[in-house]
Amino acid sequence: MQTVVAFFVIGALGIFPVVALVVQIYRDSRGKKRNLAMRCYACESAGHLLPVPHYKGDTFLYCLSCVEKQAGNRRIFGYAAFCGIVVVLVGWAVLSSNK
Ligand SMILES: [Zn+2]
Repeated sequence: MQTVVAFFVIGALGIFPVVALVVQIYRDSRGKKRNLAMRCYACESAGHLLPVPHYKGDTFLYCLSCVEKQAGNRRIFGYAAFCGIVVVLVGWAVLSSNK
């Protein structure tokens, strides 16, 4: 049980940032090309675009429906980050209580 929890926690901590980074790099290069063509970063639709600052400091253009989706995604990401922290804390508590 201990080993499984430790493996899970270490695996989740190690793999998640790498996957997130790769996805981010891919989405950024795709989104930059779309923005240069005056199309939405996320869904490639043309029309009225709004600038949305990313956490890295870059600003990209999104259509209105994707701006709304982004706001929803931020809530989901916050929830996922919260769950991740809970998993780490529970894993740490299990490991330290079994010493
Ligand atoms: Zn869009």
